[in-house]
Amino acid sequence: MWIFLNDRFVTREQAVVSVFDHGFLYGDGVYETLRSYGRRVFMLHKHLARLERSASLIGLAIPIPEKDWPELLQEALERNGLEDAYLRITVSRGEGEIGLDPMLCPRPTVVIVAKPLPQYPPHLFDRGVSLALVSVRRNLSSALSPQIKSLNFLNNILAKQEADRAGAFDAVMLNAQGFLTECSTSNLFFVRDGRLCTPSAEAGILDGITRETILLLAGEQAIPVEQGLYTPAVLRQAEECFLTNTTMEVMPVREIDKFPVGSGLPGPITTRLRSLFRTNLSRFLD
Ligand code: PMP
Repeated sequence: MWIFLNDRFVTREQAVVSVFDHGFLYGDGVYETLRSYGRRVFMLHKHLARLERSASLIGLAIPIPEKDWPELLQEALERNGLEDAYLRITVSRGEGEIGLDPMLCPRPTVVIVAKPLPQYPPHLFDRGVSLALVSVRRNLSSALSPQIKSLNFLNNILAKQEADRAGAFDAVMLNAQGFLTECSTSNLFFVRDGRLCTPSAEAGILDGITRETILLLAGEQAIPVEQGLYTPAVLRQAEECFLTNTTMEVMPVREIDKFPVGSGLPGPITTRLRSLFRTNLSRFLD
């Protein structure tokens, strides 16, 4: 396995980071998860723009110019002989003395890991997954904005652990006001009265790139779309529900807190959007 570390590709054994790296000490850094279809990356420039936004929101200057990323990611795929891959870019504050001051770290640490795309069992797509509404609240936007895709991922990990304990595939988190936000690594959609609904950015979510793509496709198909602040009661009455993220694309939801969503099977709008996503994919590959 070849891993890009700072300025070159090294073997997995050589790809080690200091115990004084502030990413390790404080979760001080940002990341992006991307995927390729063959060797073409889904929404590459959107992911790079979001990486840049995350970094700038924590005052981190990424040492690699944006124009160099496409070539580096291609090299990561080629060196590892990969098609249909999972790609992760991590940029941490870098190595420095213990202390919170970013000035202690003269050089950010940059890593690219490329590996085969993890495959979800097909039955999850066919039958849908289960969700649990968890007690862990999504980070308050004014405390640690969910729009920063940060290495500080404990909020989501705690939510996922709670979902695991409830025997669910993933967790639905509420914000501090009790409105729906998102799941641990995906955005939430549901259908109500034939309208496609999803929590708005104002609820305190990561504005997922797959979410944006689905909203675009739904708009093109004249499927009525609504973004807003929703209570869990609204979700419980949903006719359909699904999740989106880069690796899952569109994942139907079968039940929430052990209660079936609609008929308990992937609904017509979910199925239609999932297939539209697939048939339109080439438009979104860079
Ligand atoms: N929300 C969270 C908290 C996530 O970690 C992710 C995965 N990046 C998403 C939503 C979905 O984002 P995307 O569609 O860009 O993968």
